[in-house]
Amino acid sequence: MDKPRYRNTKQRTALLRLLGSTKTHPTAAWLFERLRVDFPGMSQGTIYRNLAILAEQGLLRVIPSGKNSDRFDADTSAHYHVVCERCGRVDDLPLPVGPDREQEAERASGYRITTHRLDFFGICPECRKTWG
Ligand code: ZN
Ligand code: MN
Repeated sequence: MDKPRYRNTKQRTALLRLLGSTKTHPTAAWLFERLRVDFPGMSQGTIYRNLAILAEQGLLRVIPSGKNSDRFDADTSAHYHVVCERCGRVDDLPLPVGPDREQEAERASGYRITTHRLDFFGICPECRKTWG
């Protein structure tokens, strides 16, 4: 294996470990700030590329956050998210993710449903202190 590819794999492993160490669903910029301490030569483009590869491999989830930057989650188990429209914060939402919803969607659409996505948007408790 050539050297750059090897270095890339190491960066990807570190990226996934860092993502797995937090519950905050960070942005690419957050991950970049921390990873470049250990990988000073790394570019932001490398982070985006590695995030895309890991997402494609099913090792992480991308959470689109509306007008804010995408968020990332190393927890690939089925769960919902709630996104703050003011500050972009993303939290897990502990609602049951049953098969009922997909069966209903299948009946209503005639599709064979393989997966589904459901995100909630609103104002987080911190922002509510300021904005009501
Ligand atoms: Zn907020
Ligand atoms: Mn999550």
